[in-house]
Amino acid sequence: MGRNYRRVLLKLSGEALMGNMGYGIDPEVVKEIAQEVAEVVATGVEIAIVVGGGNIFRGVKAASAGMDRANADYIGMIATVMNAMTLQDSLEQINIETRVQTAIAMQELAEPYIRRKAIRHLEKGRVVIFGAGSGNPFFTTDTAAALRAAEIEAEVIFKATKVDGIYDADPMEVPDARRYNTLTYNHVLAKDLRVMDSTAIALCKENNIPILVFDLTVRGNIKRAVMGESIGTLVGGSCEIS
Ligand code: UDP
Repeated sequence: MGRNYRRVLLKLSGEALMGNMGYGIDPEVVKEIAQEVAEVVATGVEIAIVVGGGNIFRGVKAASAGMDRANADYIGMIATVMNAMTLQDSLEQINIETRVQTAIAMQELAEPYIRRKAIRHLEKGRVVIFGAGSGNPFFTTDTAAALRAAEIEAEVIFKATKVDGIYDADPMEVPDARRYNTLTYNHVLAKDLRVMDSTAIALCKENNIPILVFDLTVRGNIKRAVMGESIGTLVGGSCEIS
C-alpha cells in the first residue's frame, strides 16, 4: 500500500474541534486530533492545516441577524485563530513542532502568512497551521484551504467531516443511498453536493487538487487517508459509485 503523499493539506472545520458540545472547543477532541496529526508527522509526510471557526462564530449567521457582513466575517476569521492556537498548544504538548500563520497580522501571537516561510517550515517537518482563513471577508475557510493548498503545492486536500464520504442521496433519509468512491469536480458543482463551497471546488478544479472527503470521527482516519487507503470519497477523478 505504501505512503502516497509527500505534502498534504488538512481542512478541519471548527465543528470538528467542538465534538459533541454545542459551542466552543472540546479539549479532549483536540487532543485526539493532535495525536493523529503526530502519527502523520512520524511517517515523514508534510502536513499543513487550515482550521475553520464555525464552532465559535459564523459571519453569514451573524449577518442574517442584522450585522454588517464584512464586520461579521472578520470576527469569524478571528474565531479561526482561537482554534488554530488551541490546536498548536495541543500539538506542542506532545512535542510536535508547529507554526501558526495568520492571514490577518497578529504578530504578537503568530507569524503573518508568508508563503515561502510556510513551505520552509513544512520542509523542516513542522506542522503549519493557517489561521484567519484567506484574510478576506465573503470567503470561507474551505476556500482558504483550496487557496493555501495551491500556494504550498499540496498534493491533496483532506476534508475531514462527520460523514464517511459523499452519497448520491442523504443517507439519513434514503436508506439505500450509495457512497461515491470518486467524483468529478463538475459533478459536485452541477449537483450542488456541498462538499465544500463552489468557490473552493472551482479553485481545486483549476489547480487540479484532489479533495478527499472522509470521516474524522473514526480514530486513525487521518493516517489512513495519508497512507492512501481507500476511505471516503475522492473528488477529482471520474464518477464511480460503490
Ligand atoms: N471567514 C472569512 N473569510 C475567510 C475564511 C473565513 O470571512 O477566508 C469567516 C466567515 O465569517 C466564516 C467564519 O470565518 O463564517 C468561520 O469560517 P468557516 O465558516 O469557514 O468555518 P468552518 O465551517 O470550517 O468551521
